[in-house]
Amino acid sequence: MSGIRSDGSWRNWAGNQRSRPVRIARPVSESDVMDVVREAATDGLGVRVVGAGHSFTAIARTDDVLVTLDDMTGIVAVDEASGRVRVRAGTRLCDLNPQLDAMGLAMSNLGDIAYQSVAGAISTSTHGTGLGFRSIAADVVGLRLVTAAGAVVVLDDDHDPDLRDVARVGLGALGVVTEVTLQCVPAFNLHAVEEILPIDDVLAGFDAFAEGTDHTEFFWMPHTGNALLKRNTRTTEVPTPARNARHAMKRRWNRFKNKELLENVAFGALNHLGRLRPSFIPRLNGRVLAGAGRAEYLTTSYDVFASPRRVRFYEMEYAVPRRDGLEAFRRVQALIDTLDRPISFPIEFRILGGDDIPLSTASGRDSCFIAVHVFRGTPYEDYFRGVEAIMDDYDGRPHWGKLHFQTADTLAGRYPGWDRFHSARERLDPRRRFTNDYLDRVLGP
Ligand SMILES: Cc1cc2nc3c(=O)[nH]c(=O)nc-3n(C[C@H](O)[C@H](O)[C@H](O)COP(=O)(O)OP(=O)(O)OC[C@H]3O[C@@H](n4cnc5c(N)ncnc54)[C@H](O)[C@@H]3O)c2cc1C
Repeated sequence: MSGIRSDGSWRNWAGNQRSRPVRIARPVSESDVMDVVREAATDGLGVRVVGAGHSFTAIARTDDVLVTLDDMTGIVAVDEASGRVRVRAGTRLCDLNPQLDAMGLAMSNLGDIAYQSVAGAISTSTHGTGLGFRSIAADVVGLRLVTAAGAVVVLDDDHDPDLRDVARVGLGALGVVTEVTLQCVPAFNLHAVEEILPIDDVLAGFDAFAEGTDHTEFFWMPHTGNALLKRNTRTTEVPTPARNARHAMKRRWNRFKNKELLENVAFGALNHLGRLRPSFIPRLNGRVLAGAGRAEYLTTSYDVFASPRRVRFYEMEYAVPRRDGLEAFRRVQALIDTLDRPISFPIEFRILGGDDIPLSTASGRDSCFIAVHVFRGTPYEDYFRGVEAIMDDYDGRPHWGKLHFQTADTLAGRYPGWDRFHSARERLDPRRRFTNDYLDRVLGP
């Protein structure tokens, strides 16, 4: 689902961005994409591609020509020796992961959902967690792009690797990505340990947890003293077979209880109740964590990284230098106490290694990521603006696909590769065929 509706309108997953494009294009081949771009140019229209519509910002929004690559999906080629896999840009991560697994391969890291398209995920610098790991875009070794001139550019180690490096996080501003080559790794399992701990213990131990475990993150429930700490260790060990049918059923039930019942059904119900009766939220938040308990399991990497997310919400996420992460987090905790209403969604804290992509949120620095959320349809502006003011003190970089209030003026000094990106944009789209209001705001017109 890219959010395109049968009446010709579009809306994103969270429902806070909508449009009614002049036309919606559904190309089936790269040459179709070239035609779409050329026709838009002839008609003086802008072009935006939508992936799975999972960004909270208006980054994919357009009233001109909206392109979906839902018919340009699947694996094109695999190089078994190198682990490089060429995929069509519209492929959803949730479809790709099992196919890679069947070939003995995996993506090295993932965020906490896998509904995104490959091109959509890399375009906003989508990331998971893990100090020794990087964003999804950092594993991109090749791209095919249809430029504003309607021409195809091939970018890889042998063809303009500089431009390839820039275009990995392109915000959809450099052209239509039609194919992505991903550097994959041998398939692996994750040994997951999830436990509820006092938030002060989690904060005090976080550096050690992050340095001692491949993938560490925590979720603090506002108005409670507790957090859910998740630690995932990479392993080639395989799950021990279930002892009998009852044991197998019990395992399935435990996973279902945590990932579906608690994180979706019960959490959704509590949020509906909290919206009606905000004063109940602090007590409800305590219940959410109490229900989770400790879980330990071992299974395929993508199945641990990504979970279903059925409760709709609005989100802001900032990346700050690693050394400032915990301090920034404590300031967000203090901010929540000053709001005139309780917050029903957890604050998520992740960590990631730096990369060299100009507009990556972790460009040039190891980073901590702090994400704040509210239930869909509830007010967020004062909360998110307060968080943003804190992040400004640390040169915070907003996730391009999550809500924020920054502009090109406030952002330019925060990315070492800002000018490099703008040179690429000037070269590939000098007339701004691929812009929209959001990009005018955050990149400049
Ligand atoms: C429930 C939920 C959980 C999330 N979890 C995480 C997480 O754990 N980590 C994280 O970092 N983010 C997370 N996100 C944010 C999400 O990963 C990003 O917003 C991502 O960009 C969405 O991918 P998409 O395919 O939906 O792209 P869209 O939102 O549809 O588009 C995003 C951008 O990509 C561009 N684009 C898409 N396809 C192409 C193409 N073929 N060529 C050129 N440009 C293109 C669009 O124009 C737009 O600029 C989450 C979002 C939701 C709703």
